[in-house]
Amino acid sequence: MTEGLTSPVASPEDDRFDRLFRPTSFEEYIGQRNHIENLGVFVEAARRRGEPLDHVLLCGPPGLGKTTLAHILAKEMGVTLHTTSGPAVEHKGALAGLLTKLDRGDVLFIDEIHRLNPAVEESLYPAIEGFEIDVMTGEGPYATTIQLGLKPFCLVGATTRTGLLTAPLLSRFGYVMRLDFYPPEDLMKIVQRSARLLGTKIDDGGTAEIANRARGTPRIANRLLRRVRDFAEVLGSGVIDQEIALTTAQRLDIDGAGLDAMDRRLLSVIIEHYDGGPVGVETLAAALSEPRGTLEDVYEPFLLQQGFLGRTPRGRIATRKAYEHLKQTPPTKDLSSPEEQGGLFS
Ligand code: ADP
Repeated sequence: MTEGLTSPVASPEDDRFDRLFRPTSFEEYIGQRNHIENLGVFVEAARRRGEPLDHVLLCGPPGLGKTTLAHILAKEMGVTLHTTSGPAVEHKGALAGLLTKLDRGDVLFIDEIHRLNPAVEESLYPAIEGFEIDVMTGEGPYATTIQLGLKPFCLVGATTRTGLLTAPLLSRFGYVMRLDFYPPEDLMKIVQRSARLLGTKIDDGGTAEIANRARGTPRIANRLLRRVRDFAEVLGSGVIDQEIALTTAQRLDIDGAGLDAMDRRLLSVIIEHYDGGPVGVETLAAALSEPRGTLEDVYEPFLLQQGFLGRTPRGRIATRKAYEHLKQTPPTKDLSSPEEQGGLFS
C-alpha cells in the first residue's frame, strides 16, 4: 500500500486538517478558474429558475479538490450535501434508502462513482433521469416492483478517471469537469492560505519550495506544509523559509521536480529492467508490487503530465527527460520519435 506524501487515501490527520483547510466558497477555491466560472453560472441559473443543479461529474487524480467542490456546490446552492462512495452503496435497497432521504435540490455526492456495482448503477439511471426509482416489495411469488417518485436532486459524482465510467452513466451528467494539476502559482496561494489558517509564519522562498515539490496537488502541498512546519518548530525558529523547506524535502526524499522515491523507482525500473520500455502496465505493477489501479491513478498522471513517462500502444516508456533526471545515459534510439515507440501516443 502506498504511504507518505503521495498516498491517495486521506489519513485521519488529513481529515482533521481538511476541515480546517477546505475552502467553503467559489471565491476561496483557488485555481481551476474556467471550471469555477462555468459552475458559478450554472449555480446562478439553477437558483434563478428555482431548480436543482444539473448533475455534475468531477474527474481527476486524488487530492485535486473534488470533494471540496461538492461541498462548495451544495453550499452555494443553499442545500444539504449527502456523501457516500461507490463501494459503500452495496445494493439497490441501500441506494433507495439514500435517494428517498433527499430533499428537493439536495446534492448527493458519490465519491469513486466508477466503483458502483452494476445493479446499483442501473437503478441509479431512472433516478437521475426522471427522479424515480424502482423498489421491490413483497417476497417470492408476491414480489412486485413499484415506482417511487423522488424529489429532484443533483448528483455530483467523483472519479479518478473518466475512462473507468460506463458510457450510459457518463452520458447522464450535464457537466463533466476534468480537474488539472495545479501550477506552482496556484499551489503557492494554497500554501499561503493554509499557513495562515495554521497560524504559521512562512516566507516566499519557503512557499515556493513547498509549491514546487507538491506534484501539482493541493492535498500534497498541505501535507508537505505540515511536515515542514514540524521541522521548522523542532530544528528552526518556527518560521518556514526556503532552507527549512529544502531540508524537509531532502529528509522525505522528494527531489526538485517533486518526485518521490516511488516515482523514481517506477522510472528506473522501466529504464534498467526494460531498456526504457515499452513495458505493459500489468508487468510494471508486478515489478513494483503496487496495484495497477494505484499506478494508473496516483503515479502515472503526474509523470505523464510532466513528460517523464510516455504511453504507447505497447506500454509505458521512459522519456529522455526521465533519463536525464535520473542521470542515466539515454539509448541512441530517438525517444521523441513515435515510430520508434510503436506508433501513436495516447
Ligand atoms: P479529492 O476529493 O479530489 O481527493 P479534496 O477535495 O479532498 O480532494 O482536497 C484535498 C484537500 O486539498 C482539501 O482539504 C483542501 O484543503 C485542499 N484543496 C483542494 N483543492 C483546493 C483548492 N482549489 N483551493 C484550496 N485548497 C484546495
